Amino acid sequence: MMITDLYDVVIGLEVHVQLNTTTKLFSADANLFGAQPNTHTSPITLGHPGSVLFLNKEAITKAVQMGIACNCTITEYNYFARKNYFYPDLPKGYQISQHTVPICVGGQVYIHLPEGGKHIQLNRIHLEEDAGKSIHDANDAYTLLDYNRAGVPLIEIVTEPCLQSAEEAYQYLTEIRKLVRWVGVSDGNMEEGSLRCDANISLKPKGATTLGTKVEVKNLNSIRNVKKAIEVEVERMAALLQEGEPIVQQTRSFNADNDTTFALRDKEEANDYRYFPEPDAAPFLVTDEVVKTIQQSLPPLPYTLYQEFTKAYALSHYDALQLLADKGIATYFTQVVAEQPFYKTAVNFICGPLKAVSQLHQGDTVFPLPVATTAAIVQLIHNKELSFSVVTEKLLPYLLQHPSDAVTVAVEKLGLIENTDDADVLAWVNQALTNHPDKVAAYLAGKKAVLGALLGEVKRLSAGKANPQKIQILLEQQLQLLKK
Ligand code: ADP
Ligand code: MG
Repeated sequence: MMITDLYDVVIGLEVHVQLNTTTKLFSADANLFGAQPNTHTSPITLGHPGSVLFLNKEAITKAVQMGIACNCTITEYNYFARKNYFYPDLPKGYQISQHTVPICVGGQVYIHLPEGGKHIQLNRIHLEEDAGKSIHDANDAYTLLDYNRAGVPLIEIVTEPCLQSAEEAYQYLTEIRKLVRWVGVSDGNMEEGSLRCDANISLKPKGATTLGTKVEVKNLNSIRNVKKAIEVEVERMAALLQEGEPIVQQTRSFNADNDTTFALRDKEEANDYRYFPEPDAAPFLVTDEVVKTIQQSLPPLPYTLYQEFTKAYALSHYDALQLLADKGIATYFTQVVAEQPFYKTAVNFICGPLKAVSQLHQGDTVFPLPVATTAAIVQLIHNKELSFSVVTEKLLPYLLQHPSDAVTVAVEKLGLIENTDDADVLAWVNQALTNHPDKVAAYLAGKKAVLGALLGEVKRLSAGKANPQKIQILLEQQLQLLKK
């Protein structure tokens, strides 16, 4: 019996994304990863009394961009709240966040699954400040604190409890990481902490309508670890329920060294954050007009392109996903097919041999050939003037060495243009048949395998320029004539 035969798995994810603004949320301190510790720490960042907060417009814009990309409703009248708690990495003793009114409400993110797709419903996206960083492993005796990160703008993307498996969580996070990079609000790097995820997990008896007690797992620093943590947590909880033991509402941590989770604190020990409106930060408006302007500045989004690729371009689900792997690929493809609308040929060439020789730059594939060059190659393949293998083995390597050569020039220099002229090819075919009466006799006696040798002979006579398909057709046609 499987766990999923007995229980429904319910997951809600909270994802923190560091926005890649130039400065922090309320100060002119640089928002930089990896700087010398405690060098971007003005009195505002350190929370000195009397410091005046200046709201960073770029952070608002980026939060709204992400909200639009996720189909959220954008809140017009916004204000911040103080979330009070004590922790050494929080110099002010409170975090400035949004509590009652998040900047983005509702919305959804589409994920692709083998059995189809699914809209993951969002509860909200809100803006807040990041805390500083505690470094525990530099020394056994003490903890180091770096306040450079304190005050960096974050958005927190919170889903409804609507994910149903570790695999869905994996796909959702992959999509969120793609989306923040696509829209350009963050590098989405989980190893450096630009993207962080907490997973809330509960089980309920199959079909039950009320949710079970949840456990929240923290310290998940890769998408793989989120998936793994959910898998082991679901097993741990199912085993408890099987034993008739209660699930305790807890915050747990994932240990990636042995793929287990362990309790950090029970809910009874949870903080009461004593939220109240932040008196030092002015409320701010996001008008419909601003939302419209931001909307117009967004690039075409993956879900829209997926619809276009599969419907208007009649590409397969698999091909569409290859093209949507990153914005670099999708954009390049769109530009190529704007010149030559041979969609399937373009996917095959771009996602095949061309991608294999491309490089990644900040998460986006960068192709080594100009769009016009690739469009010309796609046309040659589509028109069957060059075979895919000749392009891959000869033309592409040459163009990589001479990227400024026009395709026609390269083809000429390499002597690749095939001869599809019927009269020419027929002459070579007849020559081959005359040269090899033994093979012709063998063929006529039923030894079809000699066709390959005759085909090779025609290719040789044409110095490789005769179109292989044309040779095959004319060769068979002439042999049929000899049969009679
Ligand atoms: P908290 O106040 O404990 O942070 P929230 O209601 O804000 O709880 O929810 C936090 C996250 O936990 C959300 O993503 C939500 O979807 C998810 N969640 C809430 N209840 C459950 C549950 N019973 N099982 C799984 N996830 C849950
Ligand atoms: Mg929480």
